[in-house]
Amino acid sequence: MIPFNKPYLTGKETFYIEDAVKTGKISGNGKYTQLCQDFFEKKYGFKKALLTTSCTDALEMCAILANIKEGDEVIIPSFTFVSTAIAFVRQGAKIVFADSCESNPNMDVAKLEALITSKTRAIVPVHYAGVACDMDKIMALAEKYNLLVIEDAAQAIDNYFISKNGEKKALGSIGHLAAFSFHETKNIIAGEGGLLAINDERFIHRAEIIWEKGTNRAEFFRGEVNKYGWVDTGSSFLPSEIIAAFLWAQIENLDAIQQKRLNLWNTYYDQLVNWSKSKNIKLIEVEPFSCNNAHMFYVVCESLEQRTALIKHLNQEGVHAVFHYISLHSSPYYNEKHDGRELVNSDAFTNRLLRLPLFYELEVEKVIQEVLKF
Ligand SMILES: *Cc1c(COP(=O)(O)O)cnc(C)c1O
Repeated sequence: MIPFNKPYLTGKETFYIEDAVKTGKISGNGKYTQLCQDFFEKKYGFKKALLTTSCTDALEMCAILANIKEGDEVIIPSFTFVSTAIAFVRQGAKIVFADSCESNPNMDVAKLEALITSKTRAIVPVHYAGVACDMDKIMALAEKYNLLVIEDAAQAIDNYFISKNGEKKALGSIGHLAAFSFHETKNIIAGEGGLLAINDERFIHRAEIIWEKGTNRAEFFRGEVNKYGWVDTGSSFLPSEIIAAFLWAQIENLDAIQQKRLNLWNTYYDQLVNWSKSKNIKLIEVEPFSCNNAHMFYVVCESLEQRTALIKHLNQEGVHAVFHYISLHSSPYYNEKHDGRELVNSDAFTNRLLRLPLFYELEVEKVIQEVLKF
């Protein structure tokens, strides 16, 4: 069976973990944490990067930093992972779900302004499959209504948005805050792990405190205060050095990993184009204002029945292909709290989107062979 995902190991992970263990510093915010954070800040232009134990945790930090309170409204796409919503729901926010675009699962920016009320505090765009949302338009709306933009960039590491003026900006460097994931299903991994990117300097000081259980420990270790204590809310959001050491081995191989994934993605695309047209199936399309980080390769079937048949066919031929999110507005937890608007594009992706395996060691020709037989 060809699995849907297989975590790729570069070979140096256990070497760096052993080094971290031998130096005797295995709790958080040590040498490897610094190496990783410095890398992300320099490469992508974040004002500050903080490693977290997951993207979910990074989003929770965003919700705290944004001061989200009972009754505040936060706009997120319905076609996303629960974490995008739950971080804000835990702070008491009401989620206002945005529908997807017709051509891809990202939030339909043309319909966004109609969702903004006097209670809206933040917009949370999700760069689905790593494909950029239209950040020019989202940032302009946020400025007009004085809202925060928090990018759920869980799938978007090492990808770029091309602005109207031609400027190329790293995803996660555009919103006020952004969250990335290093879960084993993402492009670079740490088992479980994440990153908070801060682009608005106002948030840096408080983020460091929230990160370390509401204490000003970071300032103390920099010698800026002579004792540290409890100064704010927070939690234990920082990962151990063991996680950071693992991630460092992945970062060292980032370019090779991305190149390999892109080759696989392009092979899928080139070899499935004619087949897809003959079946009335659509292949993933990358927006003209987005680069491609090859996080995912998906197809959109013409119906739920066709998708079910394709999944069954691939399974029988030894290929594990899977569908993805079930629209959050119809989830058992949030269905009753949703305002009842129909979100037809989100539901279409719920019913018709199918993801094909995509990982470093994938034998893509074998999958393509089986797909073409359908
Ligand atoms: C993977 C993912 C998350 C959650 O990431 P974790 O690191 O597992 O918490 C959140 N949002 C999106 C869009 C994701 O794909």
